[in-house]
Amino acid sequence: MPPATVPPETVPPETVPPETVAAPATSSYAFLGFDPTGSPIGWSSCAPIPYQVDFNGAPQTAVQDVATAISDLSAASGYTFTYEGTTSDMPGPVRANEAMAGQVAPLLIAFLNSSSGEERGTGGVEWAGPAGGREKVVYGYAIIDSSVEASPGYGPDAFEGAILLHELGHAMGLAHPPDPNEIMWPTIVDGGPRNYEAGDRAGLAVLHDEPC
Ligand SMILES: [Zn+2]
Repeated sequence: MPPATVPPETVPPETVPPETVAAPATSSYAFLGFDPTGSPIGWSSCAPIPYQVDFNGAPQTAVQDVATAISDLSAASGYTFTYEGTTSDMPGPVRANEAMAGQVAPLLIAFLNSSSGEERGTGGVEWAGPAGGREKVVYGYAIIDSSVEASPGYGPDAFEGAILLHELGHAMGLAHPPDPNEIMWPTIVDGGPRNYEAGDRAGLAVLHDEPC
């Protein structure tokens, strides 16, 4: 189905890593993974998170919307971010190898025209750590489908900003909670959240406050 014919008020769920761990039904946040110590897995908060952006194929509004998303994410989470420039390096073997070696690779924000009309974005993390010990995110990605007729910005009827914030939440280690009041709810609707809400912030705080 061409993107333009998809009802604009509904953004279907995107793919999440198979290791997604379901949260208790009462929770307003959830995590993508837990390490062998039982801790939810996020980035180390003892160093800035490096990030790069691939603007190839992005709408002109993407530069401003990415800047706003990173600012909102930093305010909501307490993490700091360091911009390491643009890249044309989509997720691939190089980053996978870095992650497998336990080396931190820059968080990737990219715009991809899938033309499928099926997904509006995808986000996730890879993590590493000593066997049986504490694990940390070493790579995260937030991929936005630029074929979406996504109105730019963060207004109540806009989508591009909300999709960015949602996929960045996955890139931090958050999964989908069973709570439609959160930006991490898998469906983005008119009038729904357009920033990180209480549960999103609580989940990010848990990740941020884990020992490095
Ligand atoms: Zn999602």
